Amino acid sequence: MENCIFCKIVTKESPCAEVYSGEHVLAFLDIGPIAPGHTLVIPKTHYSNLWDVPASLAAELFTSMQKIGGALMEATRATGMNVVMNNFPSAGQVVMHAHWHLIPRFDGDGLFQVAQQQYASREAMYDMAAAMQRALQP
Ligand code: 5GP
Ligand code: ZN
Repeated sequence: MENCIFCKIVTKESPCAEVYSGEHVLAFLDIGPIAPGHTLVIPKTHYSNLWDVPASLAAELFTSMQKIGGALMEATRATGMNVVMNNFPSAGQVVMHAHWHLIPRFDGDGLFQVAQQQYASREAMYDMAAAMQRALQP
């Protein structure tokens, strides 16, 4: 994909601090880390988001994240780790090449402090679940 910075990293046209390279998966450090060790895991082929990534890649992506995540926690001495995927600009996706953020976490580090909301009523919550079940129908 032309003009995709992550495709350029895959082809080595752009440099990166590589952590792992597998058959279809690459991992490298995020250039603007939320915490040192913040790693991006990407498919080597250009897919835009979660829905574009073929299911045939899921097992390799998942096992890569387990392996890389373990190494990340060991190397940073983190006591926790978030796995985050932003899909579409509204969710904060800036690079339109599907990727997962692995973010080291420590007790009391204060990251991701987002206030939870409440449904207006229990009925509103069940209405939402029903709407989603309808959307799942083929
Ligand atoms: P998004 O907001 O799309 O989920 O995350 C994109 C991430 O890619 C950001 O955290 C940003 O710091 C990182 N990033 C953008 N350009 C580059 C780059 O050229 N090299 C590296 N290593 N990371 C990048
Ligand atoms: Zn790309």
